[in-house]
Amino acid sequence: MRYLILSDIHGNWEALAAVAAQARGCYDTILCCGDLVGYCADPNPVVKWVRANVHLVVRGNHDKVCAGLEDLEWFNPVARMAAAWTLNALSPANLDYLRNLRKGPAAVESFQVLHGSPLDEDDYLMSTFEVEQIQSYLEKQVSFFGHTHLQGGFLCDWQGVRRIGGALPNGDTVLELDPDAWYLINPGSVGQPRDGDPRAAYALYDPAARVVEYHRAAYDIAAAQRKIRAAGLPEILALRLETGD
Ligand code: ZN
Repeated sequence: MRYLILSDIHGNWEALAAVAAQARGCYDTILCCGDLVGYCADPNPVVKWVRANVHLVVRGNHDKVCAGLEDLEWFNPVARMAAAWTLNALSPANLDYLRNLRKGPAAVESFQVLHGSPLDEDDYLMSTFEVEQIQSYLEKQVSFFGHTHLQGGFLCDWQGVRRIGGALPNGDTVLELDPDAWYLINPGSVGQPRDGDPRAAYALYDPAARVVEYHRAAYDIAAAQRKIRAAGLPEILALRLETGD
């Protein structure tokens, strides 16, 4: 079984459509590490597509807040505004779907998917130090996570924890998994990359071949920006799509 791994789509339909088109034929099943909505202006098309196409989704912190399951007060003002707008915009069926998303980690075959950290979907795994703190809580040798919007992740072996880079500006990156190492793999964000590359990010995983591929897909950023502005969402949410940070 080959997997397409998505994360942090954040209501960006143009980015999701570009990823789906580019990855077509390269996978059997789709998994998602959470944050379907929040920030961009197409929560309904994105959730509808996910409901029809994605085999397993773990809940992200934005899904929780945008579905009204948690108070907005912990979000910064921009995220809070986008969450309130999204909660109001979601159709009853899509809202119901978001409210019932399962919490990660969720096991799939020999690996697992989660949003932030194995302990808390709201925690960020940004540094090797943070990964060292939670390493003993990983129940599978390969975990896919999101939340930071940084493609790449971490490798843990007898030498300690090291960072893994994502796709390069001029091509994809293929990672062959060492059978003795543990991995935290971040496919990157489909809808709001923050690693300096504005293209939509995703990963392909073939557990039998022990290979992860990091990919990027160019998409119509201007169209996503026009929708954000037309919806009256904060301008910064449109601007950051073109810089990818
Ligand atoms: Zn996110």
